[in-house]
This record gives sequence, structure tokens and C-alpha cells, in this order.
Amino acid sequence: MKDKIYTIPVVDAFKEDCECPFCLMKKSLEDASIEFVLGPSYMEVDVREQTNKLGFCKEHVNKLYSNKNRLGLALMLHSHLNEVKSQVENIISTDEIKSKKKLFSNKQADDKKIYTYITEKKSSCYICDKINMTFERYIDTFFYLIKKDKSFVDLVQSCSGFCLEHFALIYNEAPKKLNGSSLESFYNMITPIQINNINRILEELDWFIKKSDYRFANEPWNNSKDALQRTIQKVNGIIINN
Ligand SMILES: [Zn+2]
Ligand SMILES: [Zn+2]
Repeated sequence: MKDKIYTIPVVDAFKEDCECPFCLMKKSLEDASIEFVLGPSYMEVDVREQTNKLGFCKEHVNKLYSNKNRLGLALMLHSHLNEVKSQVENIISTDEIKSKKKLFSNKQADDKKIYTYITEKKSSCYICDKINMTFERYIDTFFYLIKKDKSFVDLVQSCSGFCLEHFALIYNEAPKKLNGSSLESFYNMITPIQINNINRILEELDWFIKKSDYRFANEPWNNSKDALQRTIQKVNGIIINN
């Protein structure tokens, strides 16, 4: 039996009425990671070492800033920026020595080390790493349940499909986790679910657009009142709260 700490969140997400259960899993991991980072843990040495080294991506520094613990964020960014500063100084001084030597050669210049370092820093993020580590376990668990648990397969069958990114992810991962007839029946299950639900979203969004026309103003909304938010989730994987 697969560890319950992974099976419960996966099964629970599939029980929710949503446009992508994987987005829900990611959202709850993200909320928990932000709470963790700004909770007492930021004083722990190993957490600080990691946040100093990795920093945060644009999206997550924004979400951290929206949290009430500004002091915690200030402390973390202070020591992160200190580390970045010493790396930058170090790289620039060695780059200068090299470029002086290169003045005498005709070789085309390589990317500056400082450019490579800062470009890498832009995408490195303690919170992204923390989310992805558990999310990979969730993906493993998803395929484990597909293989072993008929009631879970029924649950997947009744879901409203996935966002484009997570549909592509499970489509791509499937051959690594399933084989033979189980792989074939997996594709035969998820492909029509995805296409049918894209068609449903298209119809709902179509009605949402029509409703802005005065001729339809008094018609019922049906399921279309939040069609734009749900389309954004389907296409972009962003959960927008109403
Ligand atoms: Zn998703
Ligand atoms: Zn991030």
C-alpha cells in the first residue's frame, strides 16, 4: 500500500469539482510551502542555507510579500542578497582577469559568467523546489492508484479533465509508469475526458460571451457565470478565486 500522506491528497483532489485536480494539489502544496517558509522554520539553519542559496522566483516572492510576515521575508532576503553579492563580486573579479587575457586572442567571446549566474538565479526558487519534490510523488501516486485502485479510476473518469500543462504532463509520463494494455486503456480514458471537457468549456465561454449581447441579457447564465475564470484555469493552470 502506497504511503497515505501521498494517496489522500491525490484522491481528495479528484473528489473536488474543478478544472484540474493537479492544479489543486499544486495550490495546496504552494500554500503550505509559503506558510512553512514564513513560519518558525525560516530560523532553522538548513532552511536558511537553502533559501540563501536558491532565493525565490518572481511569482513566489510576490506571494511571500502578500503574506503578513514581512520581517521573516526581510531577514531571508537580507542574507540571500548578501550571498548573491559575494558571488557577483567573486565572478566579476575572475571574469576581468580572463577578459584581459582574451584581448590578445581573436576567439569569439563566450557568455559572461555573471550573465549565466544571474540568469540561473532568476529561475531558482526554494518554494518551487519544495513544491516540485512532493508534486513528483503525487504524480507517482496517481499512476500507482490508476494501476491498483478501481474506485480511483472511476473517480478519474468522472473528473472534468485537466489544465493543458497537466494533461501534457500525465500524457508524457504515462509510458514511464504504465505498459501494454494498461497504458492503452489509460490513453483511451483520459483523451476523451480532455477533449469533451475542452468542448464543454468552449460552449460555456461561448454562452458567457453571448450574455454580453443585450438580446441574451435576460437569459439564464446556466453554468457560464464563472466560465472565464474556469477557462483561464483550463488554459493557463491558474486558479482564480471568484
Ligand atoms: Zn493543472
Ligand atoms: Zn517559485
